[in-house]
Amino acid sequence: MIPDAYYKNIFAIDYKRLKELGIKNLFFDIDNTVIPYFEKEISKETKSLFNNLKNDFCVFLFSNSRKKRVYSIANELGVDSYYSSMKPLKRNYKKIMNMFKKNECVFIGDQFMTDVLGAKRNGLKVIFVNKLKDKEPITTKFWRILEKHYLKKYKKYGLFNIDEFYDRIKTI
Ligand SMILES: [Mg+2]
Repeated sequence: MIPDAYYKNIFAIDYKRLKELGIKNLFFDIDNTVIPYFEKEISKETKSLFNNLKNDFCVFLFSNSRKKRVYSIANELGVDSYYSSMKPLKRNYKKIMNMFKKNECVFIGDQFMTDVLGAKRNGLKVIFVNKLKDKEPITTKFWRILEKHYLKKYKKYGLFNIDEFYDRIKTI
């Protein structure tokens, strides 16, 4: 369950490299990856990032959030979306894997127990980013307790260190 790459945030990701590696589809988590929880206003910087990304990739939102929130954010960013995706369950990843080539997709998110686990157990590439803000709903706080447990273990075995950024994405 180790992410293929780890960046500070979505702005730090080396998208040029992803493109060179043949990545065609980017799937972004929403909450605390693209926009903080409980916020509706998407920043200018995020909008402009997505506008640039759309020139080089097919960009999607892949979120456990409800339809209304996902649709309004997707609409504002001008991208397609998957809502109530039930990460890390396999069901909704399968839909994507039927429509796209697995090795041309990258998932991007801020949670180990949903974003990273969900992608990895489906054999998909995933980039982990730091959460935007500390304020999170109770379900996420629950996932964070498990995440903390794993992070501690990974640190002990030298597998993953918080704030040690890397990118090990390769073509398959
Ligand atoms: Mg999130």
